Amino acid sequence: MKAPPDCPAADLLDRPLNSLRISVIDRCDLRCFYCMPEEHYTWLPQEDLLSFAEIRALVDAFVLAGVRKVRLTGGEPLLRRQLPELVALLRQQPAIEDLALTTNATHLGPLALPLRRAGLDRVTASLDSLRPERFKALVRRDTLPQVLEGIRAAATAGFASLKINTVLIRGFNDDELEDLIEFGRQVGGEVRFIEYMDVGGATQWSADAVFSKAQILARLEERLGPITPCGPQGAAPAGRFRLADGTCFGIIASVTEPFCRTCDRSRLTADGQWYLCLYAQEGADLRGRLRAGQSREELAAFIRQGWEGRTDRGAQERAADPHRGVLYQVEDLRQDPHREMHTRGG
Ligand code: SAM
Ligand code: SF4
Ligand code: SF4
Repeated sequence: MKAPPDCPAADLLDRPLNSLRISVIDRCDLRCFYCMPEEHYTWLPQEDLLSFAEIRALVDAFVLAGVRKVRLTGGEPLLRRQLPELVALLRQQPAIEDLALTTNATHLGPLALPLRRAGLDRVTASLDSLRPERFKALVRRDTLPQVLEGIRAAATAGFASLKINTVLIRGFNDDELEDLIEFGRQVGGEVRFIEYMDVGGATQWSADAVFSKAQILARLEERLGPITPCGPQGAAPAGRFRLADGTCFGIIASVTEPFCRTCDRSRLTADGQWYLCLYAQEGADLRGRLRAGQSREELAAFIRQGWEGRTDRGAQERAADPHRGVLYQVEDLRQDPHREMHTRGG
């Protein structure tokens, strides 16, 4: 295989193409109120889903265009059968320096070790509450015990890092900051608090429900004493902070302090549509090009050209909108499920 070029594609704001999030399935076993609040969804046609070989072929093309980091997500990626086989296939691509997974952890218990053995480097697990009734109200399934078991299994499977993502909803779970940090400390995972975003699918979103970075820091400082920042954020979405006892945690302030200026990631849906931004209206059809027989070099040239024209700053533009509200109404989401966060990949 030809060596990938040294120079990754750069967009019009000089942001390199470095990271790719791949949604491996649009379906999910939970119904988180901030992501999938509806009763019914339109799913992607089964025949449109990329096979593992097709995902690998596209990853090879992305590598030629500069990608070095891959994150598998969904929907719920662990619902995709034989996921460790995909991990092993991607691990064989030598240019991928970091292979990670974002999961709701309901099926992580039995899969943590097989995923690690297949070559997965890092895991991020979502956990929004430690209180069973509250958890159930938020995700509309009674699976907290499996989730905790899954996270504990990941903690002992030997991953390079374990992170715990918590979406904060004001007045709902903002009283669990310390408990979640303590849980993270116990299992050796770093908690990252995420501001509730107005992404496609978040049809219950309102600005009032956002518990902001400033509020998180103020509340923790009030209860646990001084907090210090830990180094520069770079292209990472989370700013990191240290408590007086040395415990670190992160905050992803996508709403109040968008980090579009350094964003180096794009997204591939389970049916092979490529999006340059979480908020992008349109994607590019890579599945069609791949199934039409385009070579890795041709696909890479298309990807490079697409990235080089990129100006997306979706979260910044949303923040500047004085009439900010729900991004898409339910009818618009039903017309095109690619607008949904669970299809696009978080
Ligand atoms: N199902 C997996 C999970 O929940 O970890 C992976 C997909 S999920 C779409 C990826 C991430 O997006 C999760 O950490 C989730 O909390 C986050 N997310 C979903 N909707 C969100 C919203 N409205 N605001 C902020 N984060 C959101
Ligand atoms: Fe929740 Fe993730 Fe499923 Fe969305 S995709 S409903 S965030 S578990
Ligand atoms: Fe990147 Fe778009 Fe998110 Fe901004 S909103 S950080 S450009 S994906």
